[in-house]
Amino acid sequence: MNAKNAEIVSIGTELLQGVLVDTNGLFLAEVLHGIGIEVSYRTAVGDDRQRIHQVLRQALDRAAVVVVIGGLGPTEDDRTRDALGDVSGRPLILHGETLERIEERFARRGVPIPELVKRQAWIPEGFVVLPNRHGTAPGLLWEDGQRLLVALPGPPREMRPLFTEQVLPVLLERVGSGQQIQTRTLKVCGLFEAQVEERISDLLHTDHPPIGLLAHPGEVHVRMTVSGTQEEVQIQLEEWEKKLRDRLGDAVFGVDEERLEEAVGHLLRLQGKTVAVAESCTGGLIVHRITNVPGSSDYFERGIVSYSNHAKEDLLQVPSPLIERHGAVSPEVAVAMAAGVRSLARTDLGVGVTGIAGPGGGTEAKPVGLTYIALADAQGEEWCEHRFQYDREGNKLWGSQMTLEMLRRYLLKIRVVA
Ligand code: AMP
Ligand code: MG
Repeated sequence: MNAKNAEIVSIGTELLQGVLVDTNGLFLAEVLHGIGIEVSYRTAVGDDRQRIHQVLRQALDRAAVVVVIGGLGPTEDDRTRDALGDVSGRPLILHGETLERIEERFARRGVPIPELVKRQAWIPEGFVVLPNRHGTAPGLLWEDGQRLLVALPGPPREMRPLFTEQVLPVLLERVGSGQQIQTRTLKVCGLFEAQVEERISDLLHTDHPPIGLLAHPGEVHVRMTVSGTQEEVQIQLEEWEKKLRDRLGDAVFGVDEERLEEAVGHLLRLQGKTVAVAESCTGGLIVHRITNVPGSSDYFERGIVSYSNHAKEDLLQVPSPLIERHGAVSPEVAVAMAAGVRSLARTDLGVGVTGIAGPGGGTEAKPVGLTYIALADAQGEEWCEHRFQYDREGNKLWGSQMTLEMLRRYLLKIRVVA
């Protein structure tokens, strides 16, 4: 067994009934992975003493570190303490210090202590108690030879500080061999997941490093995970990034946390260009995203949400006959919006977006999701058509994504030519 593999066991019937998202499990997975402990299993189990016992038995058989969360509360349905006793073969004993702490908490609040709460002071003999500053249930830690079993209360505001302050140092000491695991994500736009996969399929079939693809609205994330010493990790990441970039080229717009709107902003700033946006179906989302980037006032001049025909005529000087002839959702109107906002704002670039977000308003000729995006510069205009197939918010998100991508490609072309 890998001395550094872990299993996260989330306990609570709510998790199995679809009413609670296991954010604790996600948090722990990220932190453990980050310090070089491979999470090989994540398990969820309901509040049932026998089933918890079974799951813990199995976890201890296949993982060196087992982190259990939840079920340490005071109510009858919280059975983790009993199951910890079962799996360790230790009886529950009253832990005096914990009882005192609980009594103090209640005394400070001036409320009588419910009898049930005292159950939280009963812990399996031999377990180390991790005092909880934010609640009554302490964390519990048990070292059994090479194995480490940790149990933490479920509320995230109790679990996180307990883990970070009292469990993480113990784990870091165990890991401490200079080995690390690191990930890097290349973000791709303009290719579907299957197209990305096609381009890198041979790389996907090697074991080292495992590359994972993750599809998000309008972008694909290619995630590499490498391990080794700090130096090895850096070398491998550089090597693999280069290999992937050779295949994916300009479709890669960013790394790790970088967002598409940042990549576009970076190019605009680099090229000293300004932009103004006129949007209809996206309702301001494009401008919201552009202005989420600090310093966007360097290149973003204005945004106009011209939702009605009247607004398009009034604010952007789109000729009324043009709308009557071609309809508000048409290449002609998108182009007129882009040119209109550009001339009003006196920017280098103007963007116009018009479409049918849905769910109503579609026709056979112009179905829901049909969207026209236009870009105007001093030389003229270009436009493209998309047919999105999502719900209203999905279509808006894709509309904003494809607009930013169109800008990015336009700017890249300029840089390549210049
Ligand atoms: P418990 O200790 O199981 O009684 O959990 C108490 C509360 O903590 C629950 O009602 C949830 O609000 C929260 N909680 C428990 N487990 C999780 C989890 N895995 N992820 C996020 N929140 C949780
Ligand atoms: Mg519970």
